[in-house]
Amino acid sequence: MRLVFFGPPGAGKGTQSAWLTAHLAIPHLSTGEMLRAVAATGTEVGRAAESCLAVGRLVPDPLVIRIIEQRLAEDDCRPGFLLDGFPRTRRQAESLDEMLARRGTPLDLVLNLVVPEEMLVQRLTARGRADDTEEVIRQRLQVFYAETAPLLQHYQDQSLVRDVDGRGTPAEVRQRIQAVVEPPQTPPEAGEEGKGKREG
Ligand code: AMP
Repeated sequence: MRLVFFGPPGAGKGTQSAWLTAHLAIPHLSTGEMLRAVAATGTEVGRAAESCLAVGRLVPDPLVIRIIEQRLAEDDCRPGFLLDGFPRTRRQAESLDEMLARRGTPLDLVLNLVVPEEMLVQRLTARGRADDTEEVIRQRLQVFYAETAPLLQHYQDQSLVRDVDGRGTPAEVRQRIQAVVEPPQTPPEAGEEGKGKREG
């Protein structure tokens, strides 16, 4: 399954991605994690990325797009992938469309994790990552609502979006996601057709 996990910072995408990618046996592609790794190299590119991360601004599109394009070309992405934190701009969304169209492997699903803004600030403040200070959180949320939230329409136009209520405990949210990625099975047709085809 090829899916985009959509939602504001602090919605719980990282937490839910951990079990979901294990469950679907697909790699978890988090551009935030990849960029923190790039920043840690201390190279010129790393320092440029770090200066964006530190203040909650988006890293320039060309770098992020290049990282994702290289990652998607790796073998483990053949069965599918979960994108967490990408795309975040219109240009990134268009590039992703092009990359996937070239391969003939369009997206299957956009999971939209919906959480009210005041709850996001609470959650992010509790998390304590380097860019989780109040000022940087406000900036990241502002960037999300200005640049990223509008992308949802693009995927809604393709009927790819499923909303999931992201309030409550991680276990509650997990159940809701599970219901979306594993819709209840319709009972098999009586007769010989279905026999022996179902597993476990
Ligand atoms: P995240 O871990 O998704 O919350 O991302 C942390 C930070 O990494 C963001 O505040 C941005 O500075 C940067 N970042 C992550 N993904 C992207 C992206 N797709 N485009 C630009 N910057 C990104």
